[in-house]
Amino acid sequence: MPDFSIGVDLGGTNLRIAAVSGGGQLLEKVTLGTKVVLGRDHVMNEMCDAIQHLSGKYEATGSFLGAGIGIPGIIDMQTGMLRKSANLPGWADYPVRAEIERRLGARVVLENDANAAALGEQWLGAARDVPNMAVVTLGTGIGGGIVLGGKIWHGMNGMAGEFGHVTLEPEGHPCGCGNRGCGEQYASASAIVRMAREAIASGAAPSLAKAASSDAEFGAKSIYNLALQGDEHAQRIFRTFGRYLGILLAGLVNVLNLDMYVLGGGVSSAWDAFAPNMFEELRERSLVYAATAPTDPLRSGSLGKEEGAAAQTESRSQRKTIITRALLGSDAGLYGAARVAVQTG
Ligand SMILES: [Zn+2]
Repeated sequence: MPDFSIGVDLGGTNLRIAAVSGGGQLLEKVTLGTKVVLGRDHVMNEMCDAIQHLSGKYEATGSFLGAGIGIPGIIDMQTGMLRKSANLPGWADYPVRAEIERRLGARVVLENDANAAALGEQWLGAARDVPNMAVVTLGTGIGGGIVLGGKIWHGMNGMAGEFGHVTLEPEGHPCGCGNRGCGEQYASASAIVRMAREAIASGAAPSLAKAASSDAEFGAKSIYNLALQGDEHAQRIFRTFGRYLGILLAGLVNVLNLDMYVLGGGVSSAWDAFAPNMFEELRERSLVYAATAPTDPLRSGSLGKEEGAAAQTESRSQRKTIITRALLGSDAGLYGAARVAVQTG
């Protein structure tokens, strides 16, 4: 059995822990609920018990190299403390890393969850063998992470990759970050729902109004299903979404000139509904993209895993900018967390 590390995804609702070999093979995965309401010490105990259980089990046959903990929030990389986390109230100013290291007697690395997901996709997912890449996670908001030379680019103090708060509309919708017109106000699941609500309020979208009143869980997914069924209003929302996402990506491509941009998060599964408009904006707004676009960019995101990988390898050898869908789903962060545990510096 090989040497291994442990990756932890410490979310607001789930606590997931995986033992992963140095070569990227999943040895075992455990899912627990994060009982945030029971307090920090309860969550810490559960997490450390589960890590110890897994490490003890696999230590019989290989060395335990350390643990990486992916956390939603702003992490102080130097002190190993959480500066701010909306999902984990009561954790700020608590020496998380030092406390876990003390309990485990092993090296522990804390990482922002979006950065961990980016590294996971780079190590074992859509960008395997692509050293320079970025992940844009399209969920309730927009998360982001940049990997350069196979390592997360943290910026000065761990705050790099805030793609969701790049301004797309100077006088646009107010954002939770204090700015107006941020990307995540236009190209996230919440933005899709807002656009639908606006169309309903204007009285111009009776089909959406009907769906919203009959579906208790009316959300981005229901709007996507309507788009698939040919609903013109729902389709228009995804075209608008694609435009804004294309504008955001055009900026990233111009600035970073990376080999690959991977779209993850729940909304990325609506690829077929937004990608044509996204690529149209990219071509129009980014000279770097226009100069490096593959012949058939839509293919890279809509093919099966094997075919998609082959198409991407082909494009990479020709130095093309690839924009594609993530492959690992919610496991990306777990794999990435396991990976940071064994990287140095
Ligand atoms: Zn913002």
